[in-house]
Amino acid sequence: MAIRNAIVALDFDGTVVTHAYPNIGNDIGAVPVLRELLDNGCRLILYTMRSGKLLDDALAWFKRNDIPLYAVNENPTQKEWTSSPKVHADLYIDDSGLGCPLKFADGVKRPFVNWVKVRQQLVADGFLD
Ligand SMILES: [Mg+2]
Repeated sequence: MAIRNAIVALDFDGTVVTHAYPNIGNDIGAVPVLRELLDNGCRLILYTMRSGKLLDDALAWFKRNDIPLYAVNENPTQKEWTSSPKVHADLYIDDSGLGCPLKFADGVKRPFVNWVKVRQQLVADGFLD
């Protein structure tokens, strides 16, 4: 039985797409896994350094891929119990996070998230069945 209703904070560049900042990187297999999390009742918070038009471009990526976001760079409910600026989540998926499974590909400078391995980890940790 998977953990339901978890709040998952998600980085953008190098995490849901390859690193191509300020452009939008290539698909790396995040969409089906994010959809599984959504189907499981998880809420996704985009947690990114992007702002202004570059943030809008990232938001358009989520729209195009039909991945609804719960919030962007904030957890709307945490103000009720903390004044901390850190975005509260049950899980953070970020290519810069220690232990995040990464993948290298020809022609790209920086590794990006390996979503096959992330999915396995989500199952192992109880976030997915
Ligand atoms: Mg990143």
